[in-house]
Amino acid sequence: MSNLVLKDEFSWLKEKEKEWDYEKTNNTFKDNLIKMRYDGVYKFRVVPPFQKDGSDFMVQFGQHWNLFPKADGGAQVVGCPKITYRQECPICSAIDELIRTKRRTYQDFNGMNGIAAQRRYLIRVIFIDYQGQGTITADPNSPKLLVAPVTIAKYIQDKLRDEDYGPDGIIGIKTGQVLRIKRDKNKREYYTADVMGTKYEIPKDLLSVEQWPNPYDFIPKESTQDLYKILSENYNDIDVDIAKIAMSIPTHNAIPQQTKDFDELDKL
Ligand SMILES: [Zn+2]
Repeated sequence: MSNLVLKDEFSWLKEKEKEWDYEKTNNTFKDNLIKMRYDGVYKFRVVPPFQKDGSDFMVQFGQHWNLFPKADGGAQVVGCPKITYRQECPICSAIDELIRTKRRTYQDFNGMNGIAAQRRYLIRVIFIDYQGQGTITADPNSPKLLVAPVTIAKYIQDKLRDEDYGPDGIIGIKTGQVLRIKRDKNKREYYTADVMGTKYEIPKDLLSVEQWPNPYDFIPKESTQDLYKILSENYNDIDVDIAKIAMSIPTHNAIPQQTKDFDELDKL
């Protein structure tokens, strides 16, 4: 799934574009990422794309975890150029090669969850409310970028295509409804979503594009070449060493042993 899959949905934008004040974005929004690190109930209003082809809606990126040590002993994160830029990724290639040669699936490898690429989406939202134990406060006047897992991106995509909702019911400026996301780390599926049937009009002072962060400023920057460089500094043979990690036989003496938190996105 990617934003490009939604292309047809954005013919809708051509009729709506007069409502937006299209201008260049500026990029001073570093504190405006919402990562849903805490259990609880989040309420958002999804904002439509600013690009008329929808290319800045639900911008996809990927990251690999636990492959390299950081100075403090924690897990280093690197961007996955395959998911983020549709370029070759030596880590994904090594994993694919392992699966192909062993004729197994991802689930057959103990260490695979630690290193296979994690896919996320950046979505412009108004953060309306949060109820839970976490130290986070909603601010509906401040433009935000939600870092969303695949399940949530897929839910939004399904609703855009659902004739009972459609673009008007999800991202229409006056008619878009509140999206409620529940996060519960004790459930098998961390995140569940529903649309509440409550319309939430985007306030006039948030209709200017320059108020909003550009998702492309926040995706990982690593290219294929960058990854080869990092890998060659850490491993003798990329394919062999990554296969050993996937099979949980660490050979690299500095490989971090801590459990990965899927929601930590420190690189952003
Ligand atoms: Zn990758």
